[in-house]
Amino acid sequence: MKWIYLSPHLDDAALSCGGLIWEQTQRGDQVEIWTICAGDPPMGELSPFAAELHRRWQVGVEAVARRREEDLASCQVLSVAPRYFPLPDCIYRRAGDAYWQSGRNTPQNIELPGVFLYPDYQAIFGPIHPLESALIEQLADRLGESLPSDAVVVCPLTVGGHVDHQLTRLAAERVQRNLWYYADYPYADDFVQQPEQIERLSPAHSVRRTFRLSQPAIQAWGRAVAAHRSQISTFWPDLETMQAALQEYYVRMGGAVLWSPADSNIEDKLA
Ligand SMILES: [Zn+2]
Repeated sequence: MKWIYLSPHLDDAALSCGGLIWEQTQRGDQVEIWTICAGDPPMGELSPFAAELHRRWQVGVEAVARRREEDLASCQVLSVAPRYFPLPDCIYRRAGDAYWQSGRNTPQNIELPGVFLYPDYQAIFGPIHPLESALIEQLADRLGESLPSDAVVVCPLTVGGHVDHQLTRLAAERVQRNLWYYADYPYADDFVQQPEQIERLSPAHSVRRTFRLSQPAIQAWGRAVAAHRSQISTFWPDLETMQAALQEYYVRMGGAVLWSPADSNIEDKLA
């Protein structure tokens, strides 16, 4: 079987589904992780918000290149092939910027060139900026022309509501595919006691499917997350705490969970 996990940022698929992906590749499935916001920051000044984040992360303009290197190591742990889209993270995006070499790529608003669209925390967890409606279409076009028809495509539910996660889901849903979904970790960890908060994000008639992971799979999940070195301190004080948190999340969720379309007939192959 062939699986493609759509990852809004470079660490989302590893964080949310690393254990399951490892089990799938061990079993001989072909898995790819497609990261949507893997592009370099545009030329020019960063927003004060992005500059502040860079200071806190102790990185310079090479931040994204370094994160792609970390991701390659993570993909190696999971035996998956990565694919990177050229869109920058929302903290870098400005009105009027173009991200694709060809195709539908009209500047979104030439009256406000250079205005930062997500200048603070509130913005990155708010609604998608109206100027980015064309970007959703462009991304949907790229996904539509690149996704192989024989792959199961797995998309984030957008637990936590980050705009890049919303963008990924909206674009994926424009493409006529029977999508599967995953809960965005670690955001989803805040809602394990209120599963209805996660369920309400799953499409009507989708089916919650639970998969058992072996201990080696949970260990590999930890190694895949650990490879994203620069991100660890955002969530955990150290690697041991991270590994314990993954294990606990797995237990509290009752397994590794995906939501599939109701009419999917491939579950027998997943046992
Ligand atoms: Zn993310």
